[in-house]
Amino acid sequence: MTAAPIAADVLIDNIGQLVSAPGLGALRGSAQANITVTADAALAIRAGVIVAAGPADALAPRVRAQTRIDAEGRAVCPGLIDCHTHLVYAGDRVGEFEQRLQGARYIDILAAGGGILHTMRQTRAASVEALVAQARPRLLALRESGVTTVEVKTGYGLDRASEVAMFEAIAALDALDLCDVIPTALPAHATPPEFRAERERYVEAVIDDILPALAEAHARSRFAARGRALGVDAFCEREAFSVEQSRRVLAAGRRLGMIPTLHTDQFYALGGIEMALALGARSCDHLEAAAPEDRARLGASASIAVVLPACAFNFGNTAFADARGLLAAGAAVAIATDHNPGSSPCLSLPLAMAIACRYQRLTPAEALNAATVNAAAALGLSDRGRLMAGQRADLIMLHASDWRHLVYGFGGNPVARVMRAGRFV
Ligand SMILES: [Zn+2]
Repeated sequence: MTAAPIAADVLIDNIGQLVSAPGLGALRGSAQANITVTADAALAIRAGVIVAAGPADALAPRVRAQTRIDAEGRAVCPGLIDCHTHLVYAGDRVGEFEQRLQGARYIDILAAGGGILHTMRQTRAASVEALVAQARPRLLALRESGVTTVEVKTGYGLDRASEVAMFEAIAALDALDLCDVIPTALPAHATPPEFRAERERYVEAVIDDILPALAEAHARSRFAARGRALGVDAFCEREAFSVEQSRRVLAAGRRLGMIPTLHTDQFYALGGIEMALALGARSCDHLEAAAPEDRARLGASASIAVVLPACAFNFGNTAFADARGLLAAGAAVAIATDHNPGSSPCLSLPLAMAIACRYQRLTPAEALNAATVNAAAALGLSDRGRLMAGQRADLIMLHASDWRHLVYGFGGNPVARVMRAGRFV
């Protein structure tokens, strides 16, 4: 008896290790350590979607493919998903980087009108084309190290016209078709100077003016045309927005059809997690200062706990989020770069994962699931993150035959080739 043939565009054969999370959806708590490693595997793709994956001796002879690719014994993992970035902005903060090395604190630089506001001034002065031109090489760098889907936030415009321009730049970045881009509205990132000392008045402008303008821009964008929702985020922190102000911003976004998420508990635990969960936030991000009771709340929720280890690394401290505590509480942990010019000028998700393994004590399997299936869930995506039939053919081929090299080495690039929707880039 012979099994039915499988028609495919591409067969990837001679895969040393084919690595994927089992099951469906996010992996929470102890299940986050689960991973399936198939030795000597093959994978068949049709129309950008995986149609079969498994041991090569059983699968490869059945596949009738137009193109056959020899993986030469290398490991193949799902394409990485960077679920929290600020990739679009103008200029840099290299001067502030040196100031901080000499002792200045990030939060004091922000309070003195530097930091986010420095980037805001440069971003406001830039055209949409200039924003895209500056973001493009960053996106290419992220992709080269394995990222096939990336979330990108607004939040350096901080007025209606400039926030909409940032959104247009994010849509233009997606149109380059280098990487799948998921947009998030973050006008509540900082209070711009024209509202100095009147944070409350700026919150009203965000709710009454900026968010509706972003919802309109989204409605006529390529994202809406393809059913891709807009996220809404706020920076809930002492020097940024209170829990109540953040709540009003997220609730206003939700009324406009946006999906809430929150920057919370980076420096202080103010109660942002409980508020965000009550609003059904898809994720709570940062969490360095999260208290045990809030970790328990995250564990009992459907929300994803997004940790951003490159941020503490960049600050030169060890104030990492307690990822082990989050897992012990039953949470689903995701890892993102938080790429931004101030607190995390990081352009490698494998590096963020490597830091998480060392300082947050994640196993390689927990880190891989954090940057694939759980990151997909943080963005509301269920069509990617695993290498199994029915999923998008977004995958990375490593240089090594053992997939753990993805987080073992650091400083170089462990990724040899990147495939997006069935095509090597
Ligand atoms: Zn961020």
